[in-house]
Amino acid sequence: MERIVENERMVAWSAAASAQGHRIGLVPTMGALHAGHTSLIQTLRNQVDRLVVSVFVNPLQFDETHDLDRYPRTLDADEQRCRDAGADVVFAPQSFYPDGFQTSISVHEVAARWEGEHRLGHFQGVATVCARLFGVTGCHAAVFGEKDFQQLAVVRRLVADLHLPVVVVAAPTARESDGLAMSSRNRFLSPAGRLRAASVSAALFHAQALAAQGEADVHTLVEQGAKKLDVDAVDYFEVVDALHLTPMQRLSATPARAIIAARIAQTRLIDNVAIGGDGPWT
Ligand code: AMP
Repeated sequence: MERIVENERMVAWSAAASAQGHRIGLVPTMGALHAGHTSLIQTLRNQVDRLVVSVFVNPLQFDETHDLDRYPRTLDADEQRCRDAGADVVFAPQSFYPDGFQTSISVHEVAARWEGEHRLGHFQGVATVCARLFGVTGCHAAVFGEKDFQQLAVVRRLVADLHLPVVVVAAPTARESDGLAMSSRNRFLSPAGRLRAASVSAALFHAQALAAQGEADVHTLVEQGAKKLDVDAVDYFEVVDALHLTPMQRLSATPARAIIAARIAQTRLIDNVAIGGDGPWT
């Protein structure tokens, strides 16, 4: 496995791999890799011939400088994890955007609510970095975690709308044994906060279980689920249409997702689960 830090070298590597008929897979990350990222690598590994993990803390997708500044950077450990998981390249650009860079991509409706509302400019940053990563790595497929469900929906829309030649693969959320979704931000929780953090997935699972028992009223699902929460603040806890991310009043045959964002001290946690069916996505 090699580490590539220059855009030009990444482009050349990808052109050579493509010329040999290899299908290239991309796992876009911001580093601080954990078992959730490893599961993304494993999901994509057998669908492609060459696998690139990008590690780039994208300043465009942060709305708060202190969040960007404190984002964990652990490149040596990340590289080891990628090697162990069978990646061919870790692409960790020192400077990713070219001089004079002035392009941004906005995906509209699907990015407008929830994370889009709470983190202004976030999805513009995500869409822009993804489009450039797809270009520089020349990937044929890219994998995204369901953990960031709205991000996955935004990337699907981006790829469909711009007809980008990239297959978007979704990977299920990897969780700790108490249900907490793995996240690079979990390390900021205090020991007491870490215990309380499990209540976020507990709330989702409770709503999911009630739906499985036949409860279709969304207000009831959220109200009952919220009783499990032990957090300092809830940014949102909703049941949405899984394709358009619009709020639902009652469950129906349409695939739905319970989504939540909550805070414990300074740490913001997001999570979601399927409620009812899953897919189709187009
Ligand atoms: P990040 O480095 O946190 O920006 O995430 C990079 C990719 O890993 C995104 O596609 C995330 O959705 C995915 N990811 C992060 N945490 C998890 C998890 N617990 N399970 C599955 N995928 C995850």
